[in-house]
Amino acid sequence: MFDLLEILLFSLWTCFIIYATWYFTSAKHYAPITHTEARMLWKIHKQIGQCGAKKWREIRRRNKIIGFECGCGYKHIQKRPLVINAPEAKTPVQNAKSSVFDKLHTSYEST
Ligand SMILES: [Zn+2]
Repeated sequence: MFDLLEILLFSLWTCFIIYATWYFTSAKHYAPITHTEARMLWKIHKQIGQCGAKKWREIRRRNKIIGFECGCGYKHIQKRPLVINAPEAKTPVQNAKSSVFDKLHTSYEST
């Protein structure tokens, strides 16, 4: 009994370590952005933060733009890729199929 519990705890702990390692290593990966995107983010910051700074500069790491520094001292580092209209959580295939079937069914009925 005790051995089983120990194995269970050990595997849980291993999973946790793997997850933590993955989490921290992935968090360190900066998402490179383009100059235009950095400027866009700066403009967004100015709007949101009602910032009147007129200067900004790119924050670079390994020749890649990873963020910007505003004239007011605000720093933004992009850690996740810029995705506009990120897709929703994966819908099960079954749902997609049934919705297609429904569409076919209704179109068949209406004609
Ligand atoms: Zn600012």
